[in-house]
Amino acid sequence: MKKRRAVLGVGAHPDDMDFTASGTIAKMVEEGWEAYYLICTDGSRGSRHHRITHKALAKTRLEEQEAAGRILGLKDIFYLDHRDTQLPCNPLIKAQIVRVIRIVRPTVVITMDPTFHYSASSPWNKNVAFVNHTDHRAAGLATMDAVFPLSRDRLSFPEHEQQGLMPHKVDELWFTSFERKDYVVDITSTFEKKMKALSAHKSQFDDFVKVKEEVISHAHHFADEEEFEFAESFIRLVLD
Ligand SMILES: [Zn+2]
Repeated sequence: MKKRRAVLGVGAHPDDMDFTASGTIAKMVEEGWEAYYLICTDGSRGSRHHRITHKALAKTRLEEQEAAGRILGLKDIFYLDHRDTQLPCNPLIKAQIVRVIRIVRPTVVITMDPTFHYSASSPWNKNVAFVNHTDHRAAGLATMDAVFPLSRDRLSFPEHEQQGLMPHKVDELWFTSFERKDYVVDITSTFEKKMKALSAHKSQFDDFVKVKEEVISHAHHFADEEEFEFAESFIRLVLD
């Protein structure tokens, strides 16, 4: 029998993993992996529209993420429902992430690079700076700590064991990369699926054509030294 392989993508907001890793995750699903998402916030601040309430936006964003998950073939999506823009990196959120890791028992965890705070210019636009969202950094850092050492150690959150959740060692931790090329994955075969999953996040785009152009240009950037057309890039940590 083939060994079970599972991937867990941890994002701060609905759409984070779809933007940065969904081509790779869709490819893993096609190769027989089980795939899961964990979304840390409710995404309730991600709107420029003045009339929408936090509650209504959170509901919409959850529905959009569920639709994207169906397109990608995710097995399940977990939501922590922290308030958007206020995600802490503290023992509570670490315990919540460890809990999901102990339920899903992933081989690979993918999250956002916690060391990336800002860049003064980007590879695709030298004149524009980029500040990484506070929730992205918090989600990445809390997830890194949850992967190592917390989910592995029996004595971290021992209440989990009483609930039947055993410690779990994650084999690999991948950080999604906005700019750096480290571990490049060919997503040419799943690029359409990625675009379709992204298009499910309707509340986030006034002009999806523009978004599409940007996603294409990023995917080309990551693939520009490769023989394939579209790529996603990660910083890959193979853990002992
Ligand atoms: Zn985000």
